[in-house]
Amino acid sequence: MQTISKASCTMASFPCTRVKSGLCMWPGMKQLCLRKGLPYGLLRFLSIPFKTLWGASRSLKVTQFCTVSSMSSSLQIELVPCLKDNYAYLLHDVDTGTVGVVDPSESRPIIDALSRKNRNLNYILNTHHHYDHTGGNVELKARYGAKVIGSGMDRDRIPGIDIALKGGDKWMFAGHEVLVIETPGHTRGHISFYFPGSGVIFTGDTLFSLSCGKLFEGTPEQMASSLKKITALPDDTNIYCGHEYTLSNSKFALTIEPNNEALKNYAARVAHQRSKGVATIPTTLKMEKMCNPFLRTSSSEIRQLLSIPATADDAEALGVIRQAKDNF
Ligand SMILES: [Zn+2]
Repeated sequence: MQTISKASCTMASFPCTRVKSGLCMWPGMKQLCLRKGLPYGLLRFLSIPFKTLWGASRSLKVTQFCTVSSMSSSLQIELVPCLKDNYAYLLHDVDTGTVGVVDPSESRPIIDALSRKNRNLNYILNTHHHYDHTGGNVELKARYGAKVIGSGMDRDRIPGIDIALKGGDKWMFAGHEVLVIETPGHTRGHISFYFPGSGVIFTGDTLFSLSCGKLFEGTPEQMASSLKKITALPDDTNIYCGHEYTLSNSKFALTIEPNNEALKNYAARVAHQRSKGVATIPTTLKMEKMCNPFLRTSSSEIRQLLSIPATADDAEALGVIRQAKDNF
């Protein structure tokens, strides 16, 4: 297992539609592992003990999950549906037993998930202060003694904050380097947590699959700049966002770029996944670059359909797309 854990084949928590058959593999994993020169069959065999199945029907209609650990860094990521359409994420370092949760909007689903595996909670990571990302902070902190981590700019708005970080900071989660990226636009203190060793980023309400967050406290310029920081990461970065909005986002995206073949294919896949109650997260940066209209501000089709002048820069175009989506 040591050999594998040093290999850079990221396999972090993928939803799975085939849990009943016992074969559980994210579709892109095969290509990823092959690309890294690792024998797929061996990895599949070795991944079996790491698979975790659990039901989570709730209002989100996410019925089954398959969690596969990130072999590159012994980091497991487990998706936990919360509220109506939120996702929290449990992080588990298998070497040390350290556990964190990203954006717990409520405590109960987190407590249930931890109890199932008899685990403690060491850290609570918040991407921003909104209640549907921090609502579980106080109860989880009181129950487990977990440290709350968030942006220093939101020191007064994040319940129970203990460790205040800022853009450019490096923080360590049980030996995993975590880079803090300032991603304002949705809120002024929004940050994203990037784990370069595992190739994953938690983007909260900055970047969704096929959309970006509403501009509550920021400008199109700020959001465009935040998204650029994320798109500068490697294409195979797995993106874990704060909400299961992908299906409704796909409907808007298709109206403004109806001839985008990659988008059409992705939208069909998403519709199928959601009809089966399967999560569409994580997505990949590569997929988002091909399909997400907010990362495609230079698309001539989008510009034509929304009457965005050719002279408009990315931020102006993003502003027009955002407004069209707000009115959709
Ligand atoms: Zn929010």
